Amino acid sequence: MKLQCNVEIGNRVSSTNIVRRKSQRSILAIGRQTTKNTELHILWQTFQNKQGTKYKVDNNISQIFIKFINEGKATIRFIEPPHDLIIQADTIQLKSFIHILKLGITKKIDPSVLSVSNLNPKCMNSIGKTKVTVSKPTEYPILEGFPRTTEELHLPGLNRKSFDRQILKLQSLRILNLSNNQISSLPKELGTLQHLQELILSQNRLNKAVKWAWLDETAMKFNLKLLDISNNMLDKLPEQIGKLGALVNLKASQNVLSYLPHSIGKLFNLRYLDISKNNLYCLPGSMRNLRLVSLDISNNAFKNLIFDVKLQSDIVSLTEYAARSFLKTRCPYDASIIPYTLVKYLDNAKYCICGDACFQYYARKFVDFSLNAIASNIKSSGNATIPFDCYFCSIRCTNPVNSRLILDRNVNP
Ligand SMILES: [Zn+2]
Repeated sequence: MKLQCNVEIGNRVSSTNIVRRKSQRSILAIGRQTTKNTELHILWQTFQNKQGTKYKVDNNISQIFIKFINEGKATIRFIEPPHDLIIQADTIQLKSFIHILKLGITKKIDPSVLSVSNLNPKCMNSIGKTKVTVSKPTEYPILEGFPRTTEELHLPGLNRKSFDRQILKLQSLRILNLSNNQISSLPKELGTLQHLQELILSQNRLNKAVKWAWLDETAMKFNLKLLDISNNMLDKLPEQIGKLGALVNLKASQNVLSYLPHSIGKLFNLRYLDISKNNLYCLPGSMRNLRLVSLDISNNAFKNLIFDVKLQSDIVSLTEYAARSFLKTRCPYDASIIPYTLVKYLDNAKYCICGDACFQYYARKFVDFSLNAIASNIKSSGNATIPFDCYFCSIRCTNPVNSRLILDRNVNP
């Protein structure tokens, strides 16, 4: 049995306690030592070590860690040498590899059925491709599909009108580039790809997307670092964008956005934001929470609006009480722990300059605000200050003196 995977090695006994090496593209094989010697071994091969390293299996494995096997991760701890093989692979293949290994350890499998040829170091060329680029529609692998080992998939400029569901089988996918196609919607399951970190969707037709359910999936929240949705004729961004907690780089330039969702202020890891070449007339007040390295707001339509909405309601609903109480716990939320209606209610929260959430009871004002507090490098079309659409949770926060103090504190933290 052979397993194509990424392996990181942990040496438990070394002068610096635990020494780890970078994860390497590898083949792990389980089989007999020779035709005569039926002792089971694991052979670990990499491009740097094509002959491979053999690890004895019998009485030499102290533990197999499988807590995260459903995410395609497992660790085999050997006694001699004191190595931990930290494995990342396709979930199904990894499960069957660990299953065979356990059968071998408990002698429930006859080693002679495991081909001896498995342990002859083979050329590493049999290892699957990890980067696939298709640049012409005629080269598209319609029938054979993409290699299961694909980690980077580039399909730019193919005039594709729909998302190819074959992509959903690529459990190791880290980078997906679908730029310059005609794609108008993405399936919910895209959000379940466990390792997807970069998603490039520029120059498509996402303005026609009705649902953005893939943004609600847990894997997206924790993994996606780069999202490029520039040049899609978008007139608004989905509110769920605020759920992408790991996002570092958001490119949404060359659309027709007139405002941004307030949830954008929840992207605490965001460092690069490009919203140039849109029709923005203000920025959401929540954005003052961001600490960006680079912000491009050039070529927009910022203008000073006189707009002053007083406190909307003085009776706080039970739903609002529930939502405020939940927020005090600072727990991440989804429909598995609180009612779905409360999830939607929390998703639509606005945030006061004091940091508290506002729901039905709030005041709203445009406040001019310098961008220096939120970004180190700013590209703008000469605007020194930008109108921010701010919400206020109470009379105290709307008081000009108080709000000035709070805003100043944000400007000079
Ligand atoms: Zn407040």
